[in-house]
Amino acid sequence: MFFVVLISLLSFSANADTVDIPGFQQGSLGKHTQYFRERDGTVSIDDAIKRFESTRLSHGASNSISLGIDVAPVWMSFNINNTSNMSASYRLSLETPWIDYIDTWLIKDGVVVKHIAGGDAYPFESRPMQYRFYAFEHGFLPGSTKVIMRVETKGPMALPVQFSSVEQAIQRDITSGYQYGALYGIMGALALYNLVLFGFIRQREYGLYGLYLLGFVLNSLSYTGQLHTIITYDLGAYFQDWLDIFLMITYSVAGLHFARSLLETKQYAPRLDRFVLRTTLYIPFGMLVGFIFNQLFFSMVLAFILNTCFVVLFIAMGVKALQAQKPFAVIFILSSVTAALCITISTLAVAGVLVPYNDYTFKAIEVGMAFEAILLASILARQFRVAQIDKLIAEKYARTDPLTGLNNRRGFQELTQPIWQKIVFEQHNASLILIDIDLFKKVNDTHGHSVGDEVLKVVAKALADTCRDGDIAARWGGEEFIVFLPDTSRDSAIMQAEIIREAIENIEFSILELSLNLTASIGVAGSVASLFEQQPLHVDIFEPMIRQADRALYIAKQEGKNQVRVVS
Ligand code: GH3
Ligand code: MG
Ligand code: MG
Repeated sequence: MFFVVLISLLSFSANADTVDIPGFQQGSLGKHTQYFRERDGTVSIDDAIKRFESTRLSHGASNSISLGIDVAPVWMSFNINNTSNMSASYRLSLETPWIDYIDTWLIKDGVVVKHIAGGDAYPFESRPMQYRFYAFEHGFLPGSTKVIMRVETKGPMALPVQFSSVEQAIQRDITSGYQYGALYGIMGALALYNLVLFGFIRQREYGLYGLYLLGFVLNSLSYTGQLHTIITYDLGAYFQDWLDIFLMITYSVAGLHFARSLLETKQYAPRLDRFVLRTTLYIPFGMLVGFIFNQLFFSMVLAFILNTCFVVLFIAMGVKALQAQKPFAVIFILSSVTAALCITISTLAVAGVLVPYNDYTFKAIEVGMAFEAILLASILARQFRVAQIDKLIAEKYARTDPLTGLNNRRGFQELTQPIWQKIVFEQHNASLILIDIDLFKKVNDTHGHSVGDEVLKVVAKALADTCRDGDIAARWGGEEFIVFLPDTSRDSAIMQAEIIREAIENIEFSILELSLNLTASIGVAGSVASLFEQQPLHVDIFEPMIRQADRALYIAKQEGKNQVRVVS
């Protein structure tokens, strides 16, 4: 890289308009180029030769001469000086695929030895090389050859003339092939993945993101000349120009809608959201009107406006999201600012301002967009994760009693059922304990409902503390609790119930600044250890066992509360 720049600087100082080969291996010829615009009607090649010889003309200041949109045809000239005594094969290419007409004349000793006509106005087959850009290869004879080019286009007049030895040119093509292959591979796979995801889970973000990536790949294929060489090569310049500008806006339209959907801007930035929506409607509509009336320039300006807006709006939406403390705002801004930066680098390089034009700066736009696409994908992945966690939390809440944090009825059923089935299968013991706080209404009546709530929490905590590993406790209703005791016979369960009863009786309510003597009545039901005494357990007797415990609880209440009872 540095070497190439050094070489071009050296040859620049030697003779600005002359390139010495074979010393010069590859590079852009912008700084070696004299040019003028064909303002004054048609200029013939003879006129042009005279003008380049006689007049002091504009001189290229950077690697690529850039003159804006819809400008008059441009004539360029430079000299190739072969310092060796053998012919040297070089490739000259003009690496802007949308240029309509390009003519090159090679002049040796004042005589035109070759005229090479091309550009995307010519059918693909009749272009000098079957290549994505205008290009030709020529064996330059020893001595000086003057090269004069005439360029005419309706699109942006960006004229990066690349000149390289044929070997270098082929090497460069292979490298680009790998680079574009990797880029489109990543983006294409991401696009497909997200579109498939959208097909299954129907969440808009994924669909829009997939379209955005697809639009990006199509746009890149189009403005690097690759699309036209693959599928649309015989459809002519007219079709290509229009296709280019419509593909140019697909990714910005999809991208902006993706951002609206991802950041939910409608909720907290309704005006910006409306503006974005209108921009993505009116500008393409305007371009369509331009298409109907065949006003390419008009539509092209609209496309450029939209794509400039795209970057600005992306960042604006990110900033609004940040202000609204949206979770992904920072990473969103990071990704869009990076993309904006890379787009600016490429744009400045093509325009020939501040940034040198070379392969790296020209492709910065692609690197930036790929980086952005991957960061956005990571946002989507994280959003997916957050949604999953939300779902898990929601499921947990559906199974938990919000006041005490114990299982609710549903949680109790879900947890006990599989264990119960295993116990029945293995014919182990199991018991149930049902607990009801005595005279709880009085607690509410005396101290108020909220104190009642606090008391319930304390009781639940005491209950949970008495549970052994494997016991499953739940809030069964208002001030009723249940405990399932796997691998516990009825007799052991009675002992456990006694422990619970005592624990409740001994609760100190001093933390709540209450002097309260709280007690509970408890009913127990369960299987009996001896195999001779009881019928084998059956899956369907879980509910009857609960009813049995309830009956025992009723008896405990009847017989004076604060006691454990069991019915057989
Ligand atoms: P018994 O000894 O017969 O069980 O008398 P009790 O007052 O405990 O029984 P009863 O079933 O008549 O009253 C239960 C009371 O529990 C009535 C209800 O207001 C109260 N309660 C139910 N759920 C809650 C709750 O979540 N918070 C509070 N503070 N009170 C509740
Ligand atoms: Mg009750
Ligand atoms: Mg009660």
